[in-house]
Amino acid sequence: MFEKVLIANRGEIALRILRACREMGISTVAIHSTADTDAMHVRFADESVCIGPPAAKDSYLSIQAVLSAAAISGADAIHPGYGFLSENADFAQMVVEHGFTFIGPSADHIRLMGDKVQAKAAAKAAGIPVVPGSEGAIEDIKDVALIAKDIGYPVLIKAAAGGGGRGMQVVRREEDLEDLVKMAQSEAAAAFGNGAVYMEKYLDKPRHIEIQIMADTHGNVVHLGERDCSLQRRHQKVLEEAPSPALNAAQRAEIGEITVNAISKLGYQSAGTVEYLYEDGEFYFIEMNTRLQVEHPITEAITGIDIVREMIRVAQGAKLSVTQDDIVLRGHAIECRINAEDPETFAPSPGKVGVYHAPGGLGVRVDSALYSGYTVPPHYDSMIAKLIVHGASRNECLMRLRRALEEFVIDGISTGIPLQQRIIGERGFVDGTYDIHWLETLMAADKDGA
Ligand code: ADP
Repeated sequence: MFEKVLIANRGEIALRILRACREMGISTVAIHSTADTDAMHVRFADESVCIGPPAAKDSYLSIQAVLSAAAISGADAIHPGYGFLSENADFAQMVVEHGFTFIGPSADHIRLMGDKVQAKAAAKAAGIPVVPGSEGAIEDIKDVALIAKDIGYPVLIKAAAGGGGRGMQVVRREEDLEDLVKMAQSEAAAAFGNGAVYMEKYLDKPRHIEIQIMADTHGNVVHLGERDCSLQRRHQKVLEEAPSPALNAAQRAEIGEITVNAISKLGYQSAGTVEYLYEDGEFYFIEMNTRLQVEHPITEAITGIDIVREMIRVAQGAKLSVTQDDIVLRGHAIECRINAEDPETFAPSPGKVGVYHAPGGLGVRVDSALYSGYTVPPHYDSMIAKLIVHGASRNECLMRLRRALEEFVIDGISTGIPLQQRIIGERGFVDGTYDIHWLETLMAADKDGA
């Protein structure tokens, strides 16, 4: 059993992990930069260690600083959360080499899935359907042009080391292919230090549907159903729901089983998410996230399973506490990501929060590290709260979400609450027919109308 876990993160996710540890009787070590001395995760942890200056590269992203904090605090294990070092295979490896347990998958699995070209090949070999496109990274433009002609334009050029929706180029005509591939290669080299790019068919109106899986070290793998993350802006998720309004029970069971079989073949352990695009009844793998995801609470809401607790148990060598037959999906859940941002320009809006009041009541969960008088620092991600609402049906969930968003008070800074209110009032959202382009089309129409 772990006695002490170091949480290598900040903000709401650090608190989320801390809560799971506390319920399990595990003491916690928070790490923080000098910008986060007054942060909630530091106040709530049993111990805290300052690991460096505000810039993430010198603190939350510094492997040396994090490992030193683990050593001086005598932690047994490290939970990386999401973002920061969570998908850094070298970090996961060094954690283990220094005698700590990494609460997550093996470094080899992180490495495999971190290279999207390799990940796609591995997924395909394990029986997962993939988007048609180039076999591997693009080397010869003539070969790729032939494949593009075969699958049909538009095609999408993506970075092998990509993430966060960055570094993608849509190619609509053959004559643009060579230039856009070159552009994507140099952008990828600059952004990720790896210029490898690959090509995929550009799907017209897909939904983003992902399957949450959990696997232990005893060969047990389960899926916890899907999340629909089609509401996106610039390929970034804005609102997620579970289950997806687009799937029925048979489709869910089928893609769930395909995913579970593949994960078993890969020998993966811990929590993970296999992301698909879904169009015209077909699923296409896009990537696997080898970590806890921002939107995991909606799955917790409909399954009643504490995903972080399962991750910790599995890392200790325990068996999963549930079998596939135990997992029953109940009702409907929606998560709204609330960012500190300007509602018009989407520019980050850090600063001092005046009054903070979180909504509550039946079926309402708020994961946030905000408090009245807190100053949101400008150095990190702008997501400051997640509102998760659960209801017996999608309709009840929507009614409750509308009420909860009205109750939410975050004074002093601009937030995305008005955007979320706008979205859930739109017919395209209420009837559940939206695809990954829906939100941007809506916002573009607003601009044209203004
Ligand atoms: P990242 O790792 O940068 O998040 P993903 O491969 O997960 O990249 O894709 C992010 C988003 O980009 C998807 O949710 C979807 O909106 C869009 N996307 C990715 N691949 C395609 C594709 N082949 N066709 C259309 N849209 C795509």
